[in-house]
Amino acid sequence: MASHIVGYPRMGPKRELKFALESFWDGKSSAEELQKVAADLRASIWKQMASAGIKYIPSNTFSYYDQVLDTTAMVGAVPPRYGWNGGEIEFDTYFSMARGNASVPAMEMTKWFDTNYHYIVPELGPDVKFSYASHKAVDEFKEARALGVDTVPVLVGPVSYLLLSKPAKGVEKSFSLLSLIGKIVPIYKEVIAELKAAGATWIQFDEPTLVKDLDSHQLQAFTHAYSELESSLSGLSILIETYFADVPAEAYKTLTSLKGIAGFGFDLVRGTKTLDLVKGGFPSGKYLFAGVVDGRNIWANDLDSSLKTLQALEGVVGKDKVVVSTSCSLLHTAVDLVNETKLDKEIKSWLAFAAQKVVEVNALAQALFGLKDETVFSANAATLASRKSSPRVTNEAVQKAAAALKGSDHRRATNVSARLDAQQKKLNLPILPTTTIGSFPQTMELRKVRREYKAKKISEDDYVKAIKEEISKVVKLQEELDIDVLVHGEPERNDMVEYFGEQLSGFAFTVNGWVQSYGSRCVKPPIIYGDVSRPKAMTVFWSSMAQSMTKRPMKGMLTGPVTILNWSFVRNDQPRFETCYQIALAIKDEVEDLEKAGVTVIQIDEAALREGLPLRKSEQAFYLDWAVHSFRITNCGVKDTTQIHTHMCYSNFNDIIHSIINMDADVITIENSRSDEKLLSVFREGVKYGAGIGPGVYDIHSPRIPSTEEIADRINKMLAVLESNILWVNPDCGLKTRKYSEVKPALSNVVAAAKLLRSQL
Ligand code: GLN
Ligand code: ZN
Repeated sequence: MASHIVGYPRMGPKRELKFALESFWDGKSSAEELQKVAADLRASIWKQMASAGIKYIPSNTFSYYDQVLDTTAMVGAVPPRYGWNGGEIEFDTYFSMARGNASVPAMEMTKWFDTNYHYIVPELGPDVKFSYASHKAVDEFKEARALGVDTVPVLVGPVSYLLLSKPAKGVEKSFSLLSLIGKIVPIYKEVIAELKAAGATWIQFDEPTLVKDLDSHQLQAFTHAYSELESSLSGLSILIETYFADVPAEAYKTLTSLKGIAGFGFDLVRGTKTLDLVKGGFPSGKYLFAGVVDGRNIWANDLDSSLKTLQALEGVVGKDKVVVSTSCSLLHTAVDLVNETKLDKEIKSWLAFAAQKVVEVNALAQALFGLKDETVFSANAATLASRKSSPRVTNEAVQKAAAALKGSDHRRATNVSARLDAQQKKLNLPILPTTTIGSFPQTMELRKVRREYKAKKISEDDYVKAIKEEISKVVKLQEELDIDVLVHGEPERNDMVEYFGEQLSGFAFTVNGWVQSYGSRCVKPPIIYGDVSRPKAMTVFWSSMAQSMTKRPMKGMLTGPVTILNWSFVRNDQPRFETCYQIALAIKDEVEDLEKAGVTVIQIDEAALREGLPLRKSEQAFYLDWAVHSFRITNCGVKDTTQIHTHMCYSNFNDIIHSIINMDADVITIENSRSDEKLLSVFREGVKYGAGIGPGVYDIHSPRIPSTEEIADRINKMLAVLESNILWVNPDCGLKTRKYSEVKPALSNVVAAAKLLRSQL
């Protein structure tokens, strides 16, 4: 019975690793204590998989921070600024690369494909000297063995490692990362030899970059790298694992032609074309690791349907050659449903977290082998039927309204320049108007008030009083600072998605459904299980209260539909765009209620629009089309005089500028901490755009207080590229993680800089 798990969450069912790491970083516990927590977590995962009957159990999928950083440590590619002098890489060097230290900042972090996980980007140049500097893969293999569990060590494959790297600072533009293959392969050879000597029989190489649009030069790198490795692979079975999409036809050909490889792993959840590829030709005698259990979501598997897929594959590749697997590492799903004691029973029965997915994989492997456990399968079928027919999933009115949106075009009737004129008559703002992105510092007291209200320890009246006081403080502060367009500071919000999810129908929340985002940080995405609707107004109470406290315009503050979608676990029984349209309709109602309540400036945050962009170019246009459409739906019904703002965190959207323009917001504020002129000129190119634009004038992620001169200098640089009548002056993002002692002087300097420049224009 062949079952396999690509990888497993490291954080622990109750984020044990997070707390151990943070305590160690704070100097409150020793390295030994941290190592003990880590070893216990690994042991319990291995034992759990072994007792579930999994045949191919992964090791080296644990990490103290990130698996790509582990690979950097393995090959000794420590950037010189960390002062590492060779030898085995210890916590000091490792965590300095991850988080920086007193004298050197951290290495860059970026998104892992289209997930919300972030990896540490390797920095490589022609002079890099690789050396075998972390024996973690071998140590973990031995550790599992000592516990009586034979594992498959998992390594980030050499080609994906190089393709995920960036050229180190100062390296010539012509430098090709792939030119390092000849240098890096010898290190992999050493690792492989040591694993073999320790008794490993299988090794898994993760090569997820194979699902991207690679050119022939990049594809050749796989052939090159694995033929270099081939001699060291004899006596071992090698699995090359891909995930997050299907492998394009050319890449599939390259992959399945690699010599000395025993098995190939595919994501059959996101990879819809894989079956056709396999039918078109699969090397005889090789194993197909079939990822039918979704590692990116929390829904129970449809066991009957998966079994059919597996049987069809077996028909093509041969009996006993199909290994049942997960679509990708389970790192991207929640850990264990057992700890969800507060979740509604019916909804809970529809779900499977990592621990449950392991059991599903095994049940499928048994069934494929001819030992189908009918009770498991019929219980699963009953669960799926309950989900399908449950009245809490379906709301026909919502279904109908959302279906009617498809294929239509919603946009405001008047063009943006005319709208801005109408708005200016009403708002009468100075040139270079100042504003902030929404949140103000979230103090300990504020968090306490919210917590106590949730736990019903304080009355609603007391809660409202406390929040009202906070809003009034924030309003006064902004008036004193002389900011032009105010915000209420979002003191009532814990999280920009959760706050809305909690008030919308169709959303459920977990207590421990954490997913690692980076390092010790985790997020707890809401679960969208049903048709989304808005039982009542969500923000009007606070926003109109805030507006009543000032004569200046007060921005209504909403999270946009695409961001709510992208930061949730989304239902898998209808296309994502349908769910997005439903959320858009709910937000549209909120926008219109705010307008009715006299709020004339409304910001609809789409912080995560860029994040949802599909990996493959061929799928991007479709996504952008419905995502941007969803945004427009939220505000297509407002008056010309109502000013719609949007905010986006990613500065990396040069490639989607047309979509951003197509959102047709009146004002867009964006993160621009590096004062990226390229970004600004992209906007200028698009400036038939004409809308307001507020590139952040300082980086809110740092406690540093920018001086007036520095901000003025930045604004001047922006003015060199953008017209003064469309430029807004604002920080990069919300101020929620900062202290008042930082925010007050920083904003004061922002306003001073804006005034200085106004006087010069
Ligand atoms: N309005 C939100 C805030 O200021 C936006 C946060 C974000 O873009 N991530 O906190
Ligand atoms: Zn932001």
